[in-house]
Amino acid sequence: MLKGKTALVTGSTSGIGLGIALVLARQGADLVLNGFGDFEAARAEVAATGVKVGYHGADMSKPDQIAEMIAYANKDFGGVDILVNNAGIQHVANVEDFPVEKWDAIIAINLSSAFHTTRLAIPGMKARNWGRVLNIASAHGLVASAQKSAYVASKHGIVGFTKAVALETATTGITVNAICPGWVLTPLVQKQIDDRAAREGITVDQAKKDLLGEKQPSLQFVTPEQLGELAAFLSSPAADNIRGVAWNVDGGWVAQ
Ligand code: NAD
Repeated sequence: MLKGKTALVTGSTSGIGLGIALVLARQGADLVLNGFGDFEAARAEVAATGVKVGYHGADMSKPDQIAEMIAYANKDFGGVDILVNNAGIQHVANVEDFPVEKWDAIIAINLSSAFHTTRLAIPGMKARNWGRVLNIASAHGLVASAQKSAYVASKHGIVGFTKAVALETATTGITVNAICPGWVLTPLVQKQIDDRAAREGITVDQAKKDLLGEKQPSLQFVTPEQLGELAAFLSSPAADNIRGVAWNVDGGWVAQ
């Protein structure tokens, strides 16, 4: 279905980004990977699907490195057709204790990086009159939790950014949408589970159950594969007129 297209997924060396990259690759899209994790392992896993795979190690908090990454995709892959803005970080603290450098890093990586990748990828998409921008927001793009002010601000911000760019491209073959996952068991969430177990003197298994019980009525983690399948659907012709949505995949989190 996606043969002949190139997808660039930021933060795709682990977790949700890698899951989305794998599903898009199985649909035939060539892939540009990015992220700080084990990129050789990620590259091998995606290459096993038979598509062309590249990697660029741009730091998503650095606009000049983001520009180099898009230039690399243009030169070696002929452009970016599907842009998945996925790289993200978290920090948990009350606002009065929130380290200023953590606030700046979260806004830069979770929000501003999507501005830079999108502004640089859109001209090529316009020239081809086809494109998909998929912003990985969060249930925290729709509702808040305490002690996550920077994360919630960045994710609400990216939902707003999604809507604005969807309107700017509404008469073109480019669609712009956000995906809002609930809890997914990735390194980002494992850290929160481990911190909680240590803080409360409970087992990791109990901390996992408590985390789900608090927010996610399904009491099950969403999987990277499920998010990848939604990304593939939003990249399909059936989704040509889905524009500016913030689609929650959250086991019922924001229905409450
Ligand atoms: P993860 O930690 O497994 O993956 C994050 C990826 O981003 C990694 O590849 C990491 O190397 C990369 N990254 C981090 N900082 C970077 C930087 N400065 N430059 C380039 N790459 C960088 O986490 P994840 O859970 O897979 O998160 C992916 C996205 O999904 C994030 O935007 C996160 O906010 C969002 N999300 C996660 C959950 C969840 O429950 N795990 C829920 C909702 C939304």
